[in-house]
Amino acid sequence: MNISTYTVKPKLPAPLKPLEEMARNLWLSWNFDAIQLFIRLDYDAWLQSQQSPIRTLGMVSQERLEKVAKDDSYLAALKEVYGRFQRYRKGDTWYRGTKKDVVAYFSMEYGMDVSLPIYSGGLGILSGDHMKTSSDMGLPLVGIGLLYRQGYFKQYLNADGFQQESYPENDWYNMPVELKTDKSGNPLKISVDMAGRNVIAQIWEVKVGRSSLYLLDTNIEENAQDMRNVTATLYGGDKETRIQQEILLGIGGIRALRALGINPAATHMNEGHSAFLGLERVREVMEEKGFSFAEAKEVVWPTNIFTTHTPVPAGNERFEIALVDKYMHQWTQILGISWKDFLALGRERPDDDHETFCMTVLALKMSAYSNGVSRLHGKVSRDMWKGLWPGLPESEIPIGHVTNGVHPRTWVSSSMTDLLDRYFGPHFDEEPTDLEIWNRMDRISDEELWRTHERRRERLVAAARDRIRQHLKRTGAVERKIQQAEDALSPYALTIAFARRFATYKRGNLLLRDPERLLRLLKDTERPVQLIFAGKAHPMDMPGKELIREIIHFAEKYDVTSRIVFLENYDMTIARYLTSGADLWLNTPRRPLEASGTSGMKASMNGVLNCSVLDGWWDEAYNPEVGWAIGQGEQYEDPQLQDDVESKALYDLLEREIIPMFYQRGRDNLPREWIRKMKNCMREIGQSMSSHRMLMDYSNQFYFPALKNYRRMVKDDFAEAKSLAGYLGRLRSSWNGLRITKVESNAKPVMLRGDSLTVNAYIDLGNLKPEELQVELYHGRVSNQNATIEHARHTEMRAVSNDGSVYRYQLKVECTDTGCQGHTVRILPKHSFLVHPYRSGLIKWA
Ligand SMILES: *Cc1c(COP(=O)(O)O)cnc(C)c1O
Repeated sequence: MNISTYTVKPKLPAPLKPLEEMARNLWLSWNFDAIQLFIRLDYDAWLQSQQSPIRTLGMVSQERLEKVAKDDSYLAALKEVYGRFQRYRKGDTWYRGTKKDVVAYFSMEYGMDVSLPIYSGGLGILSGDHMKTSSDMGLPLVGIGLLYRQGYFKQYLNADGFQQESYPENDWYNMPVELKTDKSGNPLKISVDMAGRNVIAQIWEVKVGRSSLYLLDTNIEENAQDMRNVTATLYGGDKETRIQQEILLGIGGIRALRALGINPAATHMNEGHSAFLGLERVREVMEEKGFSFAEAKEVVWPTNIFTTHTPVPAGNERFEIALVDKYMHQWTQILGISWKDFLALGRERPDDDHETFCMTVLALKMSAYSNGVSRLHGKVSRDMWKGLWPGLPESEIPIGHVTNGVHPRTWVSSSMTDLLDRYFGPHFDEEPTDLEIWNRMDRISDEELWRTHERRRERLVAAARDRIRQHLKRTGAVERKIQQAEDALSPYALTIAFARRFATYKRGNLLLRDPERLLRLLKDTERPVQLIFAGKAHPMDMPGKELIREIIHFAEKYDVTSRIVFLENYDMTIARYLTSGADLWLNTPRRPLEASGTSGMKASMNGVLNCSVLDGWWDEAYNPEVGWAIGQGEQYEDPQLQDDVESKALYDLLEREIIPMFYQRGRDNLPREWIRKMKNCMREIGQSMSSHRMLMDYSNQFYFPALKNYRRMVKDDFAEAKSLAGYLGRLRSSWNGLRITKVESNAKPVMLRGDSLTVNAYIDLGNLKPEELQVELYHGRVSNQNATIEHARHTEMRAVSNDGSVYRYQLKVECTDTGCQGHTVRILPKHSFLVHPYRSGLIKWA
């Protein structure tokens, strides 16, 4: 059968043309008044389209369109919104510098909107918020990802509460994506090699306000069927599919940018999936400048940023050597390095031939700037990867942290946004980087805040009943049972939400541990409590699926199906209902396995209070004024014991603090104490966990320095990077000849504060020059427990005289801290273009 295809678009009357333009820009997804225009067009079509603006336009009848085109009130609203859209795109932004050099942000998934299902969970939502915020701030940033034909699975439960999965196909022609074409209108294409086969990909653009996200897609006729499937599903397939996807994302992503005429001056790897991009960038420099691998790496390294999200060793992506051999062996020729040296790029222990190839290690080794996603996770990451920096004290391991954030206009409900806009003023929308505006929380009256919140709870309960009804109908429940859906939940009861991926470490069933104690709370008629769960388990994760079933069975066994409900198919829509309509947001991970978490931040900005283990972001954001902590940040060896202790702590909190506070009502029926906490929480978390704070951090700590490094290199045609590579090479061959022969000081056994101390170090430089080395006094308090220097300071020493190649370095310090103090001397490389003075193997201690 020969089918000719063409695309049919709705015929919009002229006055409605702006709708089409806005439907194709995700700006709409975080502007409720713009969404409202589509809802007003045809509410049924909007619901049937599954909240897709483009599809809605296609579904509305021509008569209706013609009618609306003559409706003055509609046109006035359209004009207002469209005006705002245009002002947004042209207006001033936080970033005002050049946009010639861009940061390319790479992520495997993007959670931008329900109408673009190419995300699975937290990582994707973070990338989506990153893109939206970058647009708000006018940053010179583009996104790169993959366009999955099926996206992530949809979850539905069978009558027994067991998770089933389906993979609906995405329909690109009704989604806010556009195929990129060349000047003559043909699709722009790039190719990558996959185990000797040439695979072609086309490029789609998603417009995100002022910014663009580009998505690669191999589902085109030129490719053989198996290669068309490279972009079939997100996190589907086997390890081989995964390495293919990662080659496409990393290597293909750089090529796509080139094809688009975009120069990725700096690249940001959001998780290690895209780490192959480092190799492609090195290859480009080698080809263009005739540099060696070592030289080209010094060009790329200072402009690479890597964000890790995985606090457990097993969670970091690793490939078997045979698979790497199949797909990457040719890179030894391209890069001119040995196979062993190639593998060393992805190994913690380069000499261990049994170690697999780790994408996190590759990303860390290719990047000058690395970070974890919360303060605690930064620390966990430094500890986990310290082996990559042998000889460097843990506190100096160059992995910092930028705590995640969430995009307020995406996650604060429309009614709460209206309220905040009214009290905070237009500035709140126009200058989202002005975080202090959240201090105006105190201006909002208790009544108004509470009424707004209660409306959200009602909306949540209504949405939940609707979904329960659909579920019961689908699973063939009898009519009487379907009727009961109307009684599920109460719009007035204290509502606790637990919504997250159902992985066992998150302990979705912790609250069920003592059924009697829980039932007492649920069945209390005066102070009722209800629980809403949502979340997907990975299709292969049987224990995760079992957790879901356990919850459903619990509700049925104890006849509390009206007090415990599970909402299917957790996605951005359900997340919005839950994070704005619940009263309490529960999170019970095993510390420190939650790198950051973001749903609790969304909840906070809506005035939903957190009750959580001190893990991830909550470890740094918690204080008794904003929410509750389960435990005090303990870590346990015995998981059973931990579950016992922490579930008891949770019941105690609920019984003694949370429930009484929620139900302590004055004559006006307002829970004043609770409302006070809501305000504190919104004020503090609104500022500290806004994605605008996050992007200011990324910009100041990483993007701007990386772009500066790039410009500095470009100025002399990368000569500086080349000279640095030469210097490091020379240093490596001379390093063994370098010796600290003697360290002396005038320290007496007991010194007084204010005394001055002179330290002399005698160092044989061999054939190196003093200006090529950083000699430091490393000093601070000595812990007598393990005889190490804690909270050490390192201060550069000066060469004051020499006798041949032996130099005397000297430093005078004042004794400022009391207690047992100590010092030692160390040597590091010194070059104006190092970014970080540590280079593998190049550190010498006295
Ligand atoms: C915010 C969000 C997440 C991430 O939440 P965590 O706190 O990291 O569990 C996952 N899925 C959806 C749909 C979300 O909106």
